[in-house]
Amino acid sequence: MARRRERIVIVGGGQAGGRLAQALCAADGRFAVTLICQEPHPPYERPPLSKGVLLGTATLEDCLIWPKADPAWKDVDLRIGVTAMAIDREARTVALDDGETVAYDRLVLATGSRVRRLTTPGSDSANIHSLRSFDQAEAIARSFGKGKRLMIVGGGFIGLEIAASARLRHLDITMVEASDRLLARVVPSQIAGLLAGRHRVEGVTLRMGAMVEAFEPGEDGQARVARLSTGETLACDMAVVGVGVAANVELAAAAGLDIDVGIRTDASLRTSDPAIFACGDVATYWHPLFERTVRVEAFQNAEDHARVIASVLTGGDAVCDTVPFFWSDQYDLSLQIVGLPHLGSSTVARRRDDGAMILFHLRPDGRIVGATGLGTVGSIGRDIRLAQALIAARAHPDRAVLMDSSARLKSLLDRMPGASLPPVADAVASEARGA
Ligand code: NAP
Repeated sequence: MARRRERIVIVGGGQAGGRLAQALCAADGRFAVTLICQEPHPPYERPPLSKGVLLGTATLEDCLIWPKADPAWKDVDLRIGVTAMAIDREARTVALDDGETVAYDRLVLATGSRVRRLTTPGSDSANIHSLRSFDQAEAIARSFGKGKRLMIVGGGFIGLEIAASARLRHLDITMVEASDRLLARVVPSQIAGLLAGRHRVEGVTLRMGAMVEAFEPGEDGQARVARLSTGETLACDMAVVGVGVAANVELAAAAGLDIDVGIRTDASLRTSDPAIFACGDVATYWHPLFERTVRVEAFQNAEDHARVIASVLTGGDAVCDTVPFFWSDQYDLSLQIVGLPHLGSSTVARRRDDGAMILFHLRPDGRIVGATGLGTVGSIGRDIRLAQALIAARAHPDRAVLMDSSARLKSLLDRMPGASLPPVADAVASEARGA
């Protein structure tokens, strides 16, 4: 008699959910996979949204994680444009907003995060956008036009990547950032200063320490003037708001799972209910390398989580102990961050003649816990990968070698038995493919 396939329901068709569904389909037909996607598209990659999609060089088809033509899709019950409303942990079912209920043996919550919205008057105007989904990116791209005045609210990753793409499309850009510098929570001031300098050279006007107090409508009812907290008023034709995200924990919270800023899990991404896992942006997981819980909003994190859960569901005992990796491309610059830089108490700078810089973040005992680099991929990519390997190896590297750009970082790794260079991150590889 044929074995009953284990029913795996994945809520969320982003990078984590989509990759997991794909991995489970490769597991010899032992799973019946249901993938619930709130968006009206199959899973797609988000990195190209602020680049290729805004530039008009990437289509939805180019962004798909998993080509529609792949025959393995037949093994997935793909529910598009459907929202999971409630989990019944006793009955092991998920209620959907189309009236259906799906049963699971094990459930994976890959619900991701949503953009924070401004509450300032006028911010619901039709020409004020957010960028999280493909459809939003397409709408922004359609509104772009040479010489249009674009206001970007928030000098974080999304705002900066949009600014770089919008300059290539010849818009006139003002960025309004609440802090006194860019990326205040995530990168050291030296790197933020270099990045700000480059955006200014490219023609972006930066307004730091400022917030939009109100958008005032023109005759057509759309936002045409932004009144700032500094007293300044600025004319605009459109605006994009990128002021951070919040994890979508509500479904899990209503089901009584342990929650903090995300859904709490162990190192294998199991929640407080052993039949339920959390994956990607929404998971706050125990990280064995750093011996603390972390929540990471990054592409590579979603990929790593999908791999770990696929292994655990197929009977393995994987844990997510990889060194976080994050990258952002702006103009010809790549900003790359590995590890958890905020755990460091001091930094050592490695500067190259071409202007590239890498900061290594060290704990008081000298252990390396993070690295932040800015430069072309060619100038920083290899050293960032070596830093990732040093972090994974819990190294206490020689500061003089870190600092000296003519010294080979690999020599530090060679001194450590068992340490090796990680493969080029999938994310960078896919970016290199022009995705
Ligand atoms: P973000 O990186 O958290 O940056 C938001 C920025 O907006 C912060 O600098 C914040 O300043 C500022 N801000 C907050 N409220 C403001 C206000 N009212 N007026 C002006 N500025 C304000 O978030 P994001 O750029 O929106 O990106 C959203 C998510 O997408 C993040 O998880 C990000 O990592 C991810 N993302 C990733 C990539 C990539 O992987 N390359 C690219 C784009 C986006 P304070 O810090 O002072 O609050």
